[in-house]
Amino acid sequence: MELDIKPAKKTVDGDSKYAPNLYLEPPLSGSINVDEAEDLFRQRLEAMAVLKDFRINSQVPLNSVLMSIKSSAYSANCVSLYPTGEQRKLDNISHFLARIYFAMHPELWDSYKYFEKRLLKYRLGELNCFSADKLAAFLQSFNFDFELMPRAEYDEIKKTYLFWNHKSGQAASTISESIFKVNFEHALMFVAKRSVAVKDGFALLSTEDIRSVICDAFEQHLDKALRWAAQTLSLNSKVQNLYSNLDLVYKEFEEEQQEKKRLTKMEESSQKSPFSINMFNIDRISRDHYPPCMRHLHESLRKENHLRHHGRLYLGTFMRSAGVTEQEAIEFWREEFTKKIPNDKFERDYKYNIRHLYGKEGHRKALSSFSCEKIINNNAPGPADNHGCPFKHFDETHLVSLLKNHNIADADIEYIKDAKQRKTYTEACCEYFKSTRGVKPEEMRNPAQFYHLSARLEHDKVNNVYVKDEIDQLAESMEE
Ligand code: SF4
Repeated sequence: MELDIKPAKKTVDGDSKYAPNLYLEPPLSGSINVDEAEDLFRQRLEAMAVLKDFRINSQVPLNSVLMSIKSSAYSANCVSLYPTGEQRKLDNISHFLARIYFAMHPELWDSYKYFEKRLLKYRLGELNCFSADKLAAFLQSFNFDFELMPRAEYDEIKKTYLFWNHKSGQAASTISESIFKVNFEHALMFVAKRSVAVKDGFALLSTEDIRSVICDAFEQHLDKALRWAAQTLSLNSKVQNLYSNLDLVYKEFEEEQQEKKRLTKMEESSQKSPFSINMFNIDRISRDHYPPCMRHLHESLRKENHLRHHGRLYLGTFMRSAGVTEQEAIEFWREEFTKKIPNDKFERDYKYNIRHLYGKEGHRKALSSFSCEKIINNNAPGPADNHGCPFKHFDETHLVSLLKNHNIADADIEYIKDAKQRKTYTEACCEYFKSTRGVKPEEMRNPAQFYHLSARLEHDKVNNVYVKDEIDQLAESMEE
């Protein structure tokens, strides 16, 4: 039998008094623009990805991982476990945006429901720090007909009833500090498993059991809501316009996720790479295996003993993806920067950022090499910058001079100039690769891909491996 969840009672300021939102009412007033809506939807997708990957035994608490999802439009995080009134409002909007989007995709309902249920479970878990009375009040505010057992009755049944420890699957030696009396039909999942005590037609559930019941009720509610939305909203033209915008956000997000997976694979394979980059071989490796964008940054750093923000970010993340360890990276940057600034300034202003890239500071999420698409299309370099894709951001004279300097044959330079004119910058990069390495990749998606292909080629040549097979295999793994 389904639980009939009703909207929460309101406090004076119109906000729900208790943290977890069961999303029973859509936002009924106010307005947001399209950019804000897209941003909130994206935050929810990011939270979905975080929860999907989150491991219970992770050293970083889920709350800080979720809080690291930053939005350009809002400083608040709409999926916080401890939301303020404003965050709760944004959370509600982002939930309903996601609900509209996923309603049109029945094939994604299971993963969407799983995410919302899991998020609720974590939020309810936070209620552990509330007293049993507060949990009871929360349940009543949503019309859950669960009664907190009075103390005297609790003491009495403790002597008589056998309770169950769900984790061990054994009769529990101690029972939960609080027991809720729940209508028998709402606890069928426990009855079916024969893991519940029953008294006078009521199932006796612990606070942990109660969380499961609420989450299941919420999932059923969400399932019905998705079915309703799928039938009714698809006919509404305003919703269709909104859906089209959300669809672009979803596809872009999915593409980024795929790219991350490809990079992770490459990074894993780099652990086995014969080229572990260190302070002694890094100049040779950068000359022989870095793509032109990163080689230019490396050489600029050596020459000027400094790189501006985006240069540090692009080269730093690339080096991490190429397998440079955190310690080696710190020493590498220190060696150059301290030619111009004192070591304590380096320690204070720059070391933190390097550790941040390696996931050792801040939100503790390591960053991978930026994709070609991002380097080409975002953060165009200014006159004092060295970052960017040479095939796009260098003028022709400057590009030709770089290519000659890298010993590119004249015919290939003409091809690359032509590709630049056609704005097919990554194709120009593939031609550059062929001109210097003799094999042309089908596409170039990321500077780290360039590095790994190049390093693998040299390794295989040295070891007389049949190179063509290796290239095909790597290309295939990147296609996945
Ligand atoms: Fe670097 Fe990519 Fe441009 Fe090649 S195409 S130079 S790898 S940004």
